[in-house]
Amino acid sequence: MKKKYDYLIVGAGLFGAVFACEAKRAGKSCIVVDKRHHRGGNIYCEDVDGIHVHKYGAHIFHTDNKEVWNYVNSFVEFNRYTNSPVARYGDKLYNLPFNMNTFYQLWGVTTPAKAKVKIEEQRGEFAHIAEPANLEEQALKLCGKDIYEKLIKGYTEKQWGRAATELPAFIIRRLPFRFVFDNNYFNDAYQGIPIGGYNALIDALLGDTEVCLATDYFKNRAELDGVAEKTLFTGCIDEYFDYRCGHLEYRSLRFEEKRLEMENFQGNAVVNYTEREIPYTRVIEHKHFEFGKQPHTIITYEYPDSFAPGKEPYYPVNDEKNSRIYADYRQLAESVPNVLFGGRLAQYTYADMDDTVAAALALCKTEL
Ligand code: FAD
Repeated sequence: MKKKYDYLIVGAGLFGAVFACEAKRAGKSCIVVDKRHHRGGNIYCEDVDGIHVHKYGAHIFHTDNKEVWNYVNSFVEFNRYTNSPVARYGDKLYNLPFNMNTFYQLWGVTTPAKAKVKIEEQRGEFAHIAEPANLEEQALKLCGKDIYEKLIKGYTEKQWGRAATELPAFIIRRLPFRFVFDNNYFNDAYQGIPIGGYNALIDALLGDTEVCLATDYFKNRAELDGVAEKTLFTGCIDEYFDYRCGHLEYRSLRFEEKRLEMENFQGNAVVNYTEREIPYTRVIEHKHFEFGKQPHTIITYEYPDSFAPGKEPYYPVNDEKNSRIYADYRQLAESVPNVLFGGRLAQYTYADMDDTVAAALALCKTEL
């Protein structure tokens, strides 16, 4: 007997929403379920008196993929926000990514030639380390003492919850230096924030597709498996298979949000705190993503956190052990008929939003 829907989509995040939109365009019927109380997955923003608060970490859309850029712009317009984070060490501020502004702030050098001489001087004996044994040695080899100690060491140790000497060197493959005065963090041709916030993008993608919130697939599996011909699953792949090949590891984050009755707290959307002694890594002031002029402001302190049941899985730990476990799940996934696996959690990957859109569109091309 034909089932009620063509597709059950588990997860109303960006991947699920793009698939739902394209499925509908292809004449298919869909129902979307999400265990959260809102749509949008990790790109969801809460509207706090006109300020869109990025509830799952700051999100800046950036891409070099013109097709993806045109695709998202066909649903919402994007503003001209350019990500230019600032790093704070002690009471000094440094521009990121490492560019002529940073070198001037660190050493007072005013030309690219002088900056290059200074970097070589800083690398000194470290430049000759043939095989860096850990992240600290690798960073010292690439950039020398000042940049490492002021801008890399503390931040990285907080992110990973381990000393830099205990972290593998490969985490930092290279450190891009820019010998121009350019604080634009991304090299991509296109970037911005959707006008009206990310919820506007998700709403446009989902349109009038039926979405059931606060509905955990696993708590309603027997019933949900019967409603559609096929399922697209965008949740955690290890949970789908009841952890039978082991638990996949993640790094998590903890957010502390504050409302301040002032117009402008830090003058920038993103300020990184690079000292080890300060427990948070970043402070986000959300209104600056959309050039807000409200009399109040919302800031979020971002703390790296270990992962445990009940916490959000944010960053996959793609080391050898977890890659092996994921490969086992991939194999299991191949053998399940009529179930597609997509998105960052089912593919156990870190994917920027543009890659998520591209991957969802690629799946649509083969599937629909
Ligand atoms: P998700 O957004 O996680 O959506 C999956 C959905 O599935 C969730 O809503 C979840 O509730 C639901 N779900 C899971 N299990 C179940 C279940 N059992 N039953 C029902 N529903 C379920 N990208 C950028 O391009 N720029 C950035 O600046 C950027 N910043 C980021 C910052 C952080 C901290 C992180 C972690 C990621 C960032 N990203 C950024 C990446 C971006 O968040 C992802 O590309 C995007 O969210 C992936 O969408 P998704 O649909 O795959 O996953």
